[in-house]
Amino acid sequence: MKKTLITGAAGFLGSHLVNKFLKEGHHVIGMDNLITGNLKNIEEFRTNKNFEFRNHDVSKFVKIDGNLDYILHFASPASPIDYLKIPIQTLKVSSYGTHNLLGLAKDKGARILVASTSEVYGDPLVHPQVEEYYGNVNPVGPRGVYDEAKRYMEAVTMAYNSFHKVETRIARIFNTYGPKMRLNDGRVLPAFIGQALRGEDLTIFGDGSQTRSFCYVDDLVDGIFKLLLSDYDQPVNLGNPCEITITEFAEEIIKLTETDQKITHKDLPLNDPKQRKPDVSKAKKILNWEPKTSRDEGLKVTYEYFKSLSKEELNKKEHNDFEKYITR
Ligand code: UDP
Repeated sequence: MKKTLITGAAGFLGSHLVNKFLKEGHHVIGMDNLITGNLKNIEEFRTNKNFEFRNHDVSKFVKIDGNLDYILHFASPASPIDYLKIPIQTLKVSSYGTHNLLGLAKDKGARILVASTSEVYGDPLVHPQVEEYYGNVNPVGPRGVYDEAKRYMEAVTMAYNSFHKVETRIARIFNTYGPKMRLNDGRVLPAFIGQALRGEDLTIFGDGSQTRSFCYVDDLVDGIFKLLLSDYDQPVNLGNPCEITITEFAEEIIKLTETDQKITHKDLPLNDPKQRKPDVSKAKKILNWEPKTSRDEGLKVTYEYFKSLSKEELNKKEHNDFEKYITR
């Protein structure tokens, strides 16, 4: 039986990965310090004898007894609101955290896959984004703590690959959505659905002409699994290339939720990327992977999840205090 460590296991992507790897017959160690993760996301695995949970901050030394086959490093805040709320932890988890896990991989002879991001391209001047593009990142802007930590993550990962011959994989993950996303993390999809469910106006930042391309979580998880098992050690974009403006997206959410919400506009946050769409030719060619789920299908399932949350959760607006920091 393969033994796999998944960091950020109580988070959105981490918890879906735990599910996938348990289904694939692995013994899974889920690690999380619960700073943005939620134990509710992994409650269903608690009775599974092949799953164990460790409450630990991976920016501190990580100790695992016995053998280890795979490491997936998915611990990190992932929303612009979180970066502002916990900037130092955001930096540490992708820098010290990645370094610790690479050391662990080296020690155990394990293969490690790190979760990088489309944010390494910053506010991109090349569209759609190809892996060869170096990016347009402001290191001292509000997203700098995340973007630069993830860029460092890639650099240190490649260094362990070439210098220590550790088997490494780098996934550049684009906007992903699905059940178990945190309702109040400030990201656009939970923000819009939460607003619709509470009967509030949908808040578009800027004029809404900025674009994103949303990938359903099951598709992403398949891509991650294939990348891990492949023999390709250079960065690979994983995302859905179906691009949409934020205004069109708000209209889709209003239709989906069958509400009659109005749209209001707020200032565009500093360095908010104007366009984002992955070029996934590399993933298609190397992994024989491409996303299968349409936004229509994915959004329906996601909406059902958000509708199932309690009124208490729905009304907890944790991000409000931080709005003033992100607008110009
Ligand atoms: N956005 C918005 N209203 C919100 C939250 C976000 O218009 O309530 C916009 C945001 O400015 C960005 C896009 O939606 O252009 C996606 O934002 P998100 O925070 O989900 O992630 P990003 O892709 O920017 O990291």
